[in-house]
Amino acid sequence: MEAPQQHVMHLVAGYAAILGIAPPIVRLAASHSGPCYDPLFNRIEVDAPTLALPQPLLCLVLAHEVGHATQRTALLFDLTKTMFGVTALIAGPCIMFAAWPGEDLWRISIPGALFAILVALLFPTWRARTVQRAKALELDADAKAATLCGARIAFEAMEIMAKRGRIDATRLNVMRERCAHAEDAKEAKSTCR
Ligand SMILES: [Zn+2]
Repeated sequence: MEAPQQHVMHLVAGYAAILGIAPPIVRLAASHSGPCYDPLFNRIEVDAPTLALPQPLLCLVLAHEVGHATQRTALLFDLTKTMFGVTALIAGPCIMFAAWPGEDLWRISIPGALFAILVALLFPTWRARTVQRAKALELDADAKAATLCGARIAFEAMEIMAKRGRIDATRLNVMRERCAHAEDAKEAKSTCR
């Protein structure tokens, strides 16, 4: 029988091959913060409770994380954009401070005030866009998981995960609709709840 870690690596490699990407590295995380995908190192981190999940749930979780691995370029682009944005936000007042003639009081207070105004103006929009983007990426990873596991299996696994508080209602509802459409398409007699 395969060791749990080898089993996980085997599943990840299989899912990555189906989705046409290089298999991400699998790393056992010491913390119990749940599975996650790190685009910087193209790495899926799996904690002990995840390893102990029943097979259908483990498959769903890994398929979802491999789904995130297909988003690596977009995730890295988002990360770079955020870093440039933050750098520009900090650099502007710093340049003003360095170039501003006169007393230190004005050289500090005016760039400082400008920085505070810019943060106050830009942060809500940035936050809203980040949340929206994160939701879209989660739904995309769920769609890939449904492709890999099958919509019904993915939906049933997500229902269990939702009861454990690991998946929100929106994602579950989208998967429910996906499952219904998939079964409609196959003209299955059974229906999704
Ligand atoms: Zn996710």
